Amino acid sequence: MTSHPTWRVALPPVLAEQISALARAAHPAECCGLLEGVRAGDVIGVAALHPVRNRAGQPDRFDMDPRDQFAAQKAARANGRAIIGCYHSHPDGEARPSAHDLAGAGEADFLWLIAAGDALNAFVYRDGGFREVITGADWVTSSE
Ligand SMILES: [Zn+2]
Repeated sequence: MTSHPTWRVALPPVLAEQISALARAAHPAECCGLLEGVRAGDVIGVAALHPVRNRAGQPDRFDMDPRDQFAAQKAARANGRAIIGCYHSHPDGEARPSAHDLAGAGEADFLWLIAAGDALNAFVYRDGGFREVITGADWVTSSE
């Protein structure tokens, strides 16, 4: 079996810039939030951000406030969309999932955007691991 699922992720540049700005503002703590959007099979479109309060006591962790998560889900549903992913920053790390992120991931096909410095990378969680995907303003094809 050599075939891989191919995700296509549309991320408007304005939203990518917002995440980088939130990451800078939260430094040295992590910023975190949820992504509202639409998904059809392996096509994911990000439509809006929902910043969520980070309850983590350590600077290199995030723990989303459940009330903020609930409010984000409610808002997404009201827009006829869903929460299809999350974003957070690695203030002094790399824009790649950490071991802690892997331990906390669970929802299949959930989109993870990770910001570090000027970098913002996208990953989809499936089958116990993260796969990096390329994002674009329009539908683009994953690198795999
Ligand atoms: Zn992380």
